[in-house]
Amino acid sequence: ESWFAAAEYVPPDAIFALTAQYLKDPCPLKVNLGQGTYRDHTGKPWVLPSVRQAREQLLAQGLDHEYLPILGLRDFRERAAETALGSAIYSGREKLAICQSLSGTGALHLVGLLLKKCQRPLPKVYIPEPTWSNHHQVFRSLGFQCESFSYYDYERMRLDWDSYLSVLDGAEAGSIFIVHACAHNPTGCDPSKAQWREVGQIMKRRSLFLLFDAAYLGFNSGDLDEDAFAIRHFIGELKLEAAVCVSFAKNMGLYGERVGCVVMALNSHVIARNTQSTLEMLQRSEVSNPPAFGAKIASVVLGSEKQRRTWYTDLKTMSGRTREMRESLHDALIACGAPGTWDHLKQQSGMFGFLGLSPEVVTILREPSSSSHLRDAQFYSVYG
Ligand code: PLP
Repeated sequence: ESWFAAAEYVPPDAIFALTAQYLKDPCPLKVNLGQGTYRDHTGKPWVLPSVRQAREQLLAQGLDHEYLPILGLRDFRERAAETALGSAIYSGREKLAICQSLSGTGALHLVGLLLKKCQRPLPKVYIPEPTWSNHHQVFRSLGFQCESFSYYDYERMRLDWDSYLSVLDGAEAGSIFIVHACAHNPTGCDPSKAQWREVGQIMKRRSLFLLFDAAYLGFNSGDLDEDAFAIRHFIGELKLEAAVCVSFAKNMGLYGERVGCVVMALNSHVIARNTQSTLEMLQRSEVSNPPAFGAKIASVVLGSEKQRRTWYTDLKTMSGRTREMRESLHDALIACGAPGTWDHLKQQSGMFGFLGLSPEVVTILREPSSSSHLRDAQFYSVYG
């Protein structure tokens, strides 16, 4: 008998399992279309010039390895919050609670813990379908009941706007909605500004709580202010309480350094002070102190006009290249005579291109030898 006889075997996470399969595959033509990590034109991870410069600056100054405070590196927290909210909203910072987190995932988990501490009975959590798969896991593991709502119209390959509105209208007051602030994963399909305004009106009228997953700010358009529109509209114009889970994994390429931040916009400075203190207690019992190195890098990048400008250029490089790739893929599919329409590819934005292929087609592309069509000479003469 073991103390852990009740532990279940949980199948590997689909995205990471796919990466493992990809690494094992000997085919020289393989392409990894799974994990959301940016690659340069040689297929290699890209260390952003802004990040490289910040790293060199830090190393030249000499780094120590002391603990950060429980809430995280102060400069980083302040600069991250200002980046997400913009300076106009950030200047009213007495109504904010800000806590450094283990990247975006850690931010979501901390906000989940906070909501659990403050809400009885636990509200329902509404999550778009499709979404980043960990949303369900993070909130279910905390005991929340998660409801998926249809976000994407698979037939017309666009936002399922009618469903979105009807779910907002039908959800119990006090429910939590997880929304992707921009660059929806995996559809690359976001509400327009007018649609965001409508979402905001309903949320306000129906007393729903909005949790922004902001994992791709700047990655959508290359312009942070543009990409943060929804966050700033809800908090700055509608004056709604909201949680913003900021990640610098993608937009600074700091994936493995786990650089993130929880920014809570609250109704009063007393609530903000108490919320921040509760976050501090929760952080203490979870990780004690967040990691320092990545936060120091991000803080340097965000800390001066010059460094920020370099970062903005990096964001344009990444978002521009993904846009070009999307367009080339679209044009190549048309040139090959691929059946159907592919305009949706050009309308999408952010890191992901949602092709809309059936599972059968995906299997054939992944394992060409499994398909008689793709085993023929013509295929290999074109792609081989
Ligand atoms: N949210 C979304 C929508 C994501 O796609 C990801 C990562 O792929 C994350 C959050 C979490 O990323 P990280 O924890 O690496 O910041």
